[in-house]
Amino acid sequence: KSPQNVGLIIGVTGIVGNSLGEILPVSDTPGGPWKVYGVARRPRPAWNADHPIEYVQCDVSDSKDTQSKISPLTDVTHIFWVTWANRPTEAECCEINGTMFQNVLDALLPNAPNLTHISIQTGLKHYIGPFESFGKIKPHETPFIEDTPRLDVPNFYYTLEDLALEACKKKQGLTWSVHRPAVIFGFSPHSLMNMVGTLGIYAAICKHENVPLTYPGTKAAWNCYSIASDADLIAEQEIWSSVDPNGKNEAFNCSNGDVFKWKHLWKILADKFEVEYEEFDENQEYVSLSDRMKDKGPVWDEIVKKNNLLPTKLEEVATFWFAELQFLGECMFDSMNKSKEHGFFGFRNSQNSFISVIDKMKAHKIVP
Ligand code: NAD
Repeated sequence: KSPQNVGLIIGVTGIVGNSLGEILPVSDTPGGPWKVYGVARRPRPAWNADHPIEYVQCDVSDSKDTQSKISPLTDVTHIFWVTWANRPTEAECCEINGTMFQNVLDALLPNAPNLTHISIQTGLKHYIGPFESFGKIKPHETPFIEDTPRLDVPNFYYTLEDLALEACKKKQGLTWSVHRPAVIFGFSPHSLMNMVGTLGIYAAICKHENVPLTYPGTKAAWNCYSIASDADLIAEQEIWSSVDPNGKNEAFNCSNGDVFKWKHLWKILADKFEVEYEEFDENQEYVSLSDRMKDKGPVWDEIVKKNNLLPTKLEEVATFWFAELQFLGECMFDSMNKSKEHGFFGFRNSQNSFISVIDKMKAHKIVP
């Protein structure tokens, strides 16, 4: 009888980590019943506390902390890598993200004899290049296909892949998978990039200030078809890869399998926050969302107090720079063929995903 599957989620309070923490312990999850450890830097937040997992507070960029907290987890069979650290340059991103991953591998490879799979989450920047290369290099042709060659620029996604492959060479029977989502629709007040959370906060600020919900982007992004990746769907694909032989030693794109237009979601956003909807106006001057929101910290504090929300700071919960990037130009598409051909048929309705994330944020009193 093979040992019980034991998952180690690195980044359990993040946008997909929180979904993994919710889904893995459910009794009928593939590969279950799972025992689950969840790692994040800060103390466990209330909105994550209901998941039946063992929470481990650890800074994986610190090799000593990682050795002392992760190496005792000798029963781990599966790693779910759903974390990252941002730095001013991509070279620095490669350095820090590589160090974090290597610290965890160093703590587990010699100590967890039943370790069988490493799942790493990266993203479509695999095909476009890192943020610093936007507009400077030619991205791959869309729809993005998993097996196209790497771009000739540093990218911490490549660093992670190389380290995972190297670890698998060192340990017989150890397998890997790579998961590449588009913009993620998910719940986490501790995420470095949270599209729906940020838009919800923007809408709440517009409502509080009694101004219409102006769309802060280009006509192209308002009108074009767009794609997204539901956080629970990504978690499902990562779990599928971890237990199904067809999902192992491969990279997979992971998006919802439908298209939507921001102009339609904009109407839903306005309804959900009871703020006046405004059509995109071609003649309006472009002002970036970060510029619009740069002095709104005290306004957010007032909103939190007035609505008895979970205490948060605007700069922690809203990632305006990330939302405005999505509104700059036409969306780029991936192909989900490879994932389906290998046997993962999961999909989501993007509009329903958008609504359910907003509902969850409201239920946890992150937004009014
Ligand atoms: P996230 O920012 O939502 O969550 C990161 C998690 O890691 C949090 O739980 C955080 O506490 C934890 N963490 C950060 N540093 C840590 C440390 N030193 N030690 C321990 N825990 C630490 O993460 P994400 O957005 O899911 O990002 C994972 C990958 O997905 C990244 O490569 C990212 O580029 C990619 N991606 C994200 C999106 C998106 O919309 N968020 C879209 C496409 C691709």
